[in-house]
Amino acid sequence: MFKDSALKTKENWKIDTQIKELQNELSDAYRILGFAYYEKMKANDKAVRDSFNVKSKNLIEEIDQKSNQLATLRESKTVLTQKRCEQCSKEVPNDSLFCPYCGASCKESAADE
Ligand SMILES: [Zn+2]
Repeated sequence: MFKDSALKTKENWKIDTQIKELQNELSDAYRILGFAYYEKMKANDKAVRDSFNVKSKNLIEEIDQKSNQLATLRESKTVLTQKRCEQCSKEVPNDSLFCPYCGASCKESAADE
């Protein structure tokens, strides 16, 4: 039991790190996009505007991709931190004291925060 929970904590930590990295990359991408947009608004010549369109298209794709990855990571974190009944291993609400399915006490198996 202890080993399992230590493993979970480690996995949880790994996901947290990945989420943090992705969030940083995302905010970088947004910043670059904002700056490129600013340059485009300032520029009069068509070449800059065209290059912005290409750049922003790639950036937006990148942002979409990273947002999806982030959503997936958050989902696996939810699954990982989901509290389960030790008796019947059904998912139970994280704050419940007793399993709603079999009535076993869930106090000991509180998910690690
Ligand atoms: Zn149960």
